[in-house]
Amino acid sequence: MKWEGGEESSNLEDRRQMGPRTRALGGIGALIVLIVGLFLGVDPEKLQQFIGRGQGGRPGAGQVRERPPTPQEERTRRFAATILRYTEVVWEEQFRKVGERYRPPHMVLFSEQVRTGCGVAPSAVGPFYCPADRTVYLDPTFFDELERKLGGSRAEFSQAYVIAHEIGHHVQNLLGYSEIVERKRRTLSKGEYNQWSVRLELQADYLAGVWAHYGQKKFNFIEPGDIEAAIKSANAIGDDRLQRRATGFVSPENYTHGTSAQRVKWFRLGLQTGDLSKLKEIFEMPYGAL
Ligand SMILES: [Zn+2]
Repeated sequence: MKWEGGEESSNLEDRRQMGPRTRALGGIGALIVLIVGLFLGVDPEKLQQFIGRGQGGRPGAGQVRERPPTPQEERTRRFAATILRYTEVVWEEQFRKVGERYRPPHMVLFSEQVRTGCGVAPSAVGPFYCPADRTVYLDPTFFDELERKLGGSRAEFSQAYVIAHEIGHHVQNLLGYSEIVERKRRTLSKGEYNQWSVRLELQADYLAGVWAHYGQKKFNFIEPGDIEAAIKSANAIGDDRLQRRATGFVSPENYTHGTSAQRVKWFRLGLQTGDLSKLKEIFEMPYGAL
């Protein structure tokens, strides 16, 4: 992926050089990292389970930088800020087309654990979007995993897809889709609710594809092999693959993100068409047709 030298977003905050306030969640984090480490975006059940409550105040307020960033940290910061800027440019334009104003989210890079508007989260929950403070939280060590799997330069577009998926959750929040599902949560059984979670996740994959569609037209950032690598990572993080790896079998009623095939299908469709009118379809088509 070509990104170096691109414009950087001013909505990114790097907290990795700040001292952690508490390390109490570190142990749990290490334990569950194998199970949820490769989820794109956190599944709501896990979020409730692992995000501690009760620490108020502005997240990150009062923390001071304890050391300068390492060259590697500086590179991931530049990468994340550039991809974030690419998402801002694309979504500003798409929103403008339909007469709306895009309010860009914030993004926080952290290590080990982070205090957010949704509570305190260990990095083991994976990258996630917190609607309460409209912020994407990302521990870039998550990227190392993708790099080990795909090889350095091949991994960058997959990492951008991860960011674009989380920004997709922000776009859903702005468009009201998250609220529709949140309202359903109160009245539906767990199995029924999970189906709505799958729709939201596939929609976020689709939005990541739509972003890449318009981003490529504008910035020409995709290099040969990038799409295949992103498809490979989408394929590795379907619920069926993750469940089989964790437990040896699959239980479709517990799917919250969709199967590997579904994730690849919707990302690819967004990438090919850039057609935002399909968003509604993902919510309206029969579950079995997704
Ligand atoms: Zn997600």
